[in-house]
Amino acid sequence: SSDDEGGEEYLFKIVIIGDSAVGKSNLLSRYARNEFNAHSKATIGVEFQTQNMEIEGKEVKAQIWDTAGQERFRAVTSAYYRGAVGALVVYDISRRSTFESVGRWLDELKTHSDTTVARMLVGNKCDLESIRAVSVEEGKALAETEGLFFMETSALDSTNVKTAFEMVIRDIYTNIS
Ligand code: GDP
Ligand code: MG
Repeated sequence: SSDDEGGEEYLFKIVIIGDSAVGKSNLLSRYARNEFNAHSKATIGVEFQTQNMEIEGKEVKAQIWDTAGQERFRAVTSAYYRGAVGALVVYDISRRSTFESVGRWLDELKTHSDTTVARMLVGNKCDLESIRAVSVEEGKALAETEGLFFMETSALDSTNVKTAFEMVIRDIYTNIS
């Protein structure tokens, strides 16, 4: 359906996954509301935010889902993944264990998706260069092996946040058009 005359409209569901405290909620709040919370506490339950974008004159709505803390209990439900056509798989460049979890998150994504998913590997908190525990090269290499886009971001200082989401949205659009 469409709101504006003659225009087409798209709705893409995108999920953000990755270990607890890598910055998933802050990446979403930075992108959708330009907000950052230094003391964000996980709320329980699924949440999403919708962000509009125009591509080739078409109105594209990205419905971006946040786990809202479910991942702490390793209980991200299949409902969370259902219908997703895009995913940001996030680790924290200052915590190696979160990078080592990426494979598990990719497996879970694969298990729950029944369609092609535009996927980006996101190394968040790139502002924490002084305590970096995962090199850019390692991130790139993993992304290449797994066939993902790759970007380092900072929800804190906004580096690449918009770019990362928009790359995924554009890739979804390309896949379906
Ligand atoms: P989530 O559990 O993956 O949703 O992570 P949150 O978004 O709740 O963030 C966890 C913690 O990391 C919070 O204290 C955030 O303020 C902090 N954080 C999130 N993104 C960044 C970032 O890009 N840089 C830095 N330095 N801290 C961040
Ligand atoms: Mg969160």
